[in-house]
Amino acid sequence: MSIAENVARIRAEMEAAAIAAGRDPKQILLCAATKMNDADAVRQAIAAGVDCCGENRVQELVAKLADNAYEGAPVHFIGHLQTNKVKQVVGKVDLIQSVDSLRLLEAIQKEAAKQGIIQDILLEINVGNEESKTGMPLEEFPKILEQMSNFGNVRLRGLMTIPPICENSTDSRKFFQEIYNLAVDIRAKKDDNIRVDVLSYGMSDDFQEAIACGSTMIRVGTAIFGARDYGKSHP
Ligand SMILES: *Cc1c(COP(=O)(O)O)cnc(C)c1O
Repeated sequence: MSIAENVARIRAEMEAAAIAAGRDPKQILLCAATKMNDADAVRQAIAAGVDCCGENRVQELVAKLADNAYEGAPVHFIGHLQTNKVKQVVGKVDLIQSVDSLRLLEAIQKEAAKQGIIQDILLEINVGNEESKTGMPLEEFPKILEQMSNFGNVRLRGLMTIPPICENSTDSRKFFQEIYNLAVDIRAKKDDNIRVDVLSYGMSDDFQEAIACGSTMIRVGTAIFGARDYGKSHP
């Protein structure tokens, strides 16, 4: 199947999942997770109408930006970001989805202030509290939220999560629901400085469940581009 056919199929599945959940399909964006796929594949996904692209590695982001691979679509950073690499990402992407520590937030603030811009971000939550996963522990989150007003060059737009791999959809729903409830709690506080409109969760294997649990952005790699070849060297 071509990338265009895959995107069309995913769109139809997104729409069906949204309607089944009583939601407007237009509220859910499709982010193509482009890691290990080359500029040509990225261009095909954009031509097929994905809403944005998400890149995981700074090195790939820099190479594809230099290649104008993302022309026509916003680009997001979705991978683990080291503080010493923020310079290559801040101001280069529309949204950094994977802000997972106060230290990283401080580094992004510093760089955004230096550039005189406001950088949009999501806070990434480690909802399963897994050792191996990125994202901040749920307990740390209120602390960071309290400090958001100190970061004048960073604009919080929402939350992102990668839940643990679940054997059944009931389990993944439990994790998605936890993040959704967190967003509902934050919104109930009606703090003008804090917006959590974007809820980024759901990937190739679980996006239907994510949509049932309020996701506004799914990040899909394999179902668009096919299986990633970890044996081959990548850009
Ligand atoms: C790779 C990746 C995805 C997409 O995963 P698939 O299972 O291939 O759809 C989504 N989000 C992040 C952060 C990723 O690294």
